[in-house]
Amino acid sequence: MSDVLSPGLLFSFVLLGIFPLIAKKLVDFARSRKVLKNWDKPAAFDRDVIVIGAGSGGLVAALIAATVKAKVTLIEKNKMGGDCLNTGCVPSKALIRSAKLASDMKRGASLGFSDMEVDFNFSDVMDRVQRIIKQIEPHDSVERFESLGVDVEIGEAEILSPYLVSVNGKVLSTRNIIIATGAEPFIPPIKNLHQVEYLTSDNVWDLQEQPGRLVVLGGGPIGTELTQAFNRLGSQVTQVEMLPQIMTREDPEIAEMVAASLRSEGVTVLAGYTAMEVLVEDGEKYLLCQSAGKSASEGEPDKKIPFDEILIAVGRKANITGFGIQKLNVEITDRGTISVDDYLRTNYPNIYAIGDVAGPYQFTHTASHMAWYATVNALFGSFKKFKVDYSVIPWSTFCTPEVARVGLNETEAKSEQIEYEVTRYDVAELDRAIADEEGHGVVKVLTVPGKDKILGVTIAADHAGDLIAEYVLAMKHGLGLNKILGTIHIYPTLAEMNKFAASEWRKNHKPDWALDLAEKYHRWRRGKKPGTENTSTERRPELKSS
Ligand SMILES: Cc1cc2nc3c(=O)[nH]c(=O)nc-3n(C[C@H](O)[C@H](O)[C@H](O)COP(=O)(O)OP(=O)(O)OC[C@H]3O[C@@H](n4cnc5c(N)ncnc54)[C@H](O)[C@@H]3O)c2cc1C
Repeated sequence: MSDVLSPGLLFSFVLLGIFPLIAKKLVDFARSRKVLKNWDKPAAFDRDVIVIGAGSGGLVAALIAATVKAKVTLIEKNKMGGDCLNTGCVPSKALIRSAKLASDMKRGASLGFSDMEVDFNFSDVMDRVQRIIKQIEPHDSVERFESLGVDVEIGEAEILSPYLVSVNGKVLSTRNIIIATGAEPFIPPIKNLHQVEYLTSDNVWDLQEQPGRLVVLGGGPIGTELTQAFNRLGSQVTQVEMLPQIMTREDPEIAEMVAASLRSEGVTVLAGYTAMEVLVEDGEKYLLCQSAGKSASEGEPDKKIPFDEILIAVGRKANITGFGIQKLNVEITDRGTISVDDYLRTNYPNIYAIGDVAGPYQFTHTASHMAWYATVNALFGSFKKFKVDYSVIPWSTFCTPEVARVGLNETEAKSEQIEYEVTRYDVAELDRAIADEEGHGVVKVLTVPGKDKILGVTIAADHAGDLIAEYVLAMKHGLGLNKILGTIHIYPTLAEMNKFAASEWRKNHKPDWALDLAEKYHRWRRGKKPGTENTSTERRPELKSS
């Protein structure tokens, strides 16, 4: 024992244990020194952190820094609130709401009303969209952030060195920089596209006249939401997607549910078509498309779609130019985003990147999730650093049926060769959905085979984006389907679909042996023998006389 527990041996074990950590620290240190050695480090700094970009990521980063009493400057070159407030989530959800009312009115008969006239001015709907932006604007305003202790500069930031940022003719020194410059619509190289004034998610909100015939290029969430909204407001919409299905991140059956819903409302959905060229002929505009796998040179185009307006929504590219990172040789990924490590650091140890400019997810809630990690790591990383956690990321596409997801779907589980079981609950069965005339959709839960551990959930149903929250919580905190089943859900609510999905799983995993035993027990209590269940030996009771 004394040999085994000798100080020398114990010390060797400890060394062996901490060696990888020390090695990692040394590698980190060497890398940091290499990139920083060419830059003069100021003796003292004006700021603890400078945040570039006041969108979903930058606002949260600045707020966290100010909350923990760091000196922080937030720089925005355009509008406070970034994409989400001005050209993204907020205007799109406002437009979707108006469009939903138009759609509900058109199907008024199913709710007991006679024909309802949808009479409106398109410009009033677009004015309402702007009003909603204005109403939310104060949440992200300069005044609010300054009152919370953030120093805000409206101007274009340029990173001069890992320690210096210029804005409005001033040069500010800082210990850390957080880049949150977002992304912009990607414009694909379509022949002659520049001959027409095309729309993107940046300028579509300025429309005052309703497009008669609208082509939406792109079958992702933005393209699909806007396709449905404009169609519901009365535009004749053709949606073109290069891949064989729209909503390419979702399982084919879910994407097909959405496509079928769009078609039933009058949208022409062309999945599997590549946009090749814009043609202007006798004052009429056309988009020429080829079916997938066919090249432009192979004869006549398969589709010649006339349009009044074309909206390009084929993806978003990170804003990585114009603010100095090329001069610093900040590393960029193959996807064109800023390359960051698990702590959201770029190849400079004091420059971080968050949100759309870094990816991999391009959502408001992931930008703010990343903001926490980058800010805490920047300000307190010398004590403890946190690895960004992408294990439970939900998202939603706000179309009908609304599609929300967290974790894996079947397509991903198969491609990653992860074993799974699927449990489904058909929303058509749900009392509340039936009462609301929204009895369509599905809850699809993937679990570890034989266990109630949730691998992922897709909900396609009215309010799916809200309903998925229960599963997000369950996955985040390791709660299985049995726990959801054991939780009271109010009757009649849409949230019950989560419990009923769990109940489906339970039914498929009922313990047959225990139920057999229970059956025998009850029969024994009834005093019956096997095979005598249906034979009655009793007579009509007669009152016993005393
Ligand atoms: C139509 C549409 C609908 C969407 N709907 C949803 C949704 O429903 N839910 C959801 O989660 N997400 C949605 N998104 C995505 C969401 O808007 C983005 O993921 C989110 O805004 C990203 O935040 P960010 O902070 O990374 O960038 P942004 O919000 O784009 O902010 C970046 C900011 O940086 C500024 N900037 C850039 N360069 C400089 C510079 N050199 N100096 C100073 N400032 C600079 C820009 O002006 C901008 O304000 C939608 C997007 C679109 C386009």
